[in-house]
Amino acid sequence: MKPTVLRLAVWGLTLILLTACGRREIVQNPYAVFASAWRSNVSVGDFVFGDAPRYDILMSVDPDNRRLEGTALVRLRNLSGRPLNDLYLRLYPNLPQLGGTMQLTGVVVLPERYPAGFAYTLNNTAARITLPQPLPADQPIALEVAYRLEAPQKTGYVLFGESEGILNLPYAYPMVPAQTRDPASPWRLEIPPPHGDIAVTDPSLFVITATVPAAVTLVATGVEITHSVGISDTIQRVLVAGPAPEFAMTLSRHFQHERLTLDDIVINSYFLPQDRLAGRAALADAAAAVRVFGQLFAPYPFTELDVVQAPTRYLGMEYPGLNYIGLDTYRSQSESQEILVAHEVAHQWWYALVGSDPFRYPWLDEGLAEHSSLLFMDTLYGPDVADRIRTLRWRVPTEWAVKNDYDAPVGQDVTAFNGTNYEILVYAKSALFFDALYQTLGFETYLKVLKTFVERYRLQRPTPADFLAVVAEVGGIDPQPLYEQWILSGPQRQVTPTPPPGE
Ligand SMILES: [Zn+2]
Repeated sequence: MKPTVLRLAVWGLTLILLTACGRREIVQNPYAVFASAWRSNVSVGDFVFGDAPRYDILMSVDPDNRRLEGTALVRLRNLSGRPLNDLYLRLYPNLPQLGGTMQLTGVVVLPERYPAGFAYTLNNTAARITLPQPLPADQPIALEVAYRLEAPQKTGYVLFGESEGILNLPYAYPMVPAQTRDPASPWRLEIPPPHGDIAVTDPSLFVITATVPAAVTLVATGVEITHSVGISDTIQRVLVAGPAPEFAMTLSRHFQHERLTLDDIVINSYFLPQDRLAGRAALADAAAAVRVFGQLFAPYPFTELDVVQAPTRYLGMEYPGLNYIGLDTYRSQSESQEILVAHEVAHQWWYALVGSDPFRYPWLDEGLAEHSSLLFMDTLYGPDVADRIRTLRWRVPTEWAVKNDYDAPVGQDVTAFNGTNYEILVYAKSALFFDALYQTLGFETYLKVLKTFVERYRLQRPTPADFLAVVAEVGGIDPQPLYEQWILSGPQRQVTPTPPPGE
């Protein structure tokens, strides 16, 4: 147990009474509230609560009209090493592939409530906030940001918006971009292309107070700590989450719910009434994945995990403590539900616990999640099933890409791929790299590598070089030949460059 965890656990008990100068004072730890979202026996490593962005958001959600109004108290620390005249907040719903609208309606700097100017930038996927006075290096700042959000109604693959009575609302708050600690370029401000994951953020802390219609089920990252009945048939739910890279939610008037507990972890499955059997299966698969990965890699970090039926067709998407599982896998594509659940649950280790960089090296967390789903199937069903996954899920698509001129080096940023070859190369070919390591090192040593990787990089964002260094050190091999064979080789091709920042 690391000192930070010990402190959190002790403070989590509630209050610390201090006696100073003969006077009794009650000092409340500002981070005690997060103890209900993070398992008390799981280390946060070198994570520093005081450096992390913290969001205290009051939001009112109108799911029938797909609207949200919010006031976010956003606290962050300047980690750039130099004074900053402006800050950025990402407004990802404005991405064309998400099709929403997010507008800021006012920004003030607390505690004085000095108004701050703001301008939309990066194709409206960010607001640049001009501070009334520079923020010195290493100093914290608190902003109150009022905002409005509209989500679309769509058909087909819907990551953000409503379809079939299910409203997905990830990215539903102004998000602090990841900080680089590089004075020359302090923020991560890339615009994600349509085929990759969206947000590049640092592990953050969330206290979300959401007012929703009482008849609507709210499924979200984190845990509910209290709720109260509001006016006009609404209910006010208070959720806490973190440390976690982001906060996401999904709402529906139709959801049914089943749950189970695994040690001190609550696992929930939410599904439409007509898909109850598949909803139960998703619950069992999620619990099995948490158990298997908890034994293979490291304990699951959060006190809750939700799997929710989402209008993402046959695909899934990972958020901290919350996985979207495509609704087609509850119906016509039910044969792929188990491995999809395993892949998404694996992201709780390779994305939520060990941070990922979906822009610069998406292959690292996707390949690990993909290969972890093979380890899961191997554990449950044995080597023949694992071999079928290797062949059908990874080798066949990779060979198809080579034959049809879609092959490329896997180790490139997300903009080097397109909608056709992104999944094949960043998931399947990348998984073949991890499988080659697995075959070379053997089960025991490969798992020792992954365990060390988690221990060393929990709540950080490791690079491929960091991973290779752990392989060399713990695995005792030079991983470079396999890395070159699977990750660096392939025909270089012309790609459309990322559009320049819209400043
Ligand atoms: Zn994935």
